[in-house]
Amino acid sequence: VADVPRALQLRLPAWADELLDGVDGPFAAVEERMAFVLEAARRHVDHGTGGPFAAAVFERPSGRLLSLGVNLVVPTSVSVAHAEIVALALAGAGAGTFDLGAFDAELVTSAEPCAMCLGALPWSGINSLVCGVRDAAIREIGFDEGHKPADWVEALGDRGIAVTLDVHGEEAAAVLRAYVAAGGVIYNGAEPAELPDGGGGVTGG
Ligand SMILES: [Zn+2]
Repeated sequence: VADVPRALQLRLPAWADELLDGVDGPFAAVEERMAFVLEAARRHVDHGTGGPFAAAVFERPSGRLLSLGVNLVVPTSVSVAHAEIVALALAGAGAGTFDLGAFDAELVTSAEPCAMCLGALPWSGINSLVCGVRDAAIREIGFDEGHKPADWVEALGDRGIAVTLDVHGEEAAAVLRAYVAAGGVIYNGAEPAELPDGGGGVTGG
């Protein structure tokens, strides 16, 4: 069948070239890593290139940046292209290994992962997860996180993934609120809930 798709491309928006080209040295502290991720989320919102979520993978001991991801669901029409998935996919593809454990890798995400991204984490090989805005705040602002086990932090710990919550949480929440205030569409899994004025769309994460 001629129109059955054979490939897809996940590419960061053009503004990311400037951001990544300007990266100066390793990011020593988790706060620095999160500040970089939030800068990407803000640029993503400011440029109208997608939803207000960003994530990055770092080599945990050194702080070397391995990849950046942003939510690309709307521009790519790929429902699974959440920021965390994009960051993990680019890190693996860039390094030539699906197992990021080789880097003692840390995923830093502007928002606590949704149910889908949470499920993807144990298969990525990361050893550390650092989150910005808390799950409850994400939902309160209007984004769907899906069904997550109440003990998900402990469960990741049992899988060897240490979890750090609420790093620059207020600043991370502010990015989500700015997106909503600017009229950005919130696209949620089961029932899209449109806000006034249209704009880009997004799913949680
Ligand atoms: Zn997600």
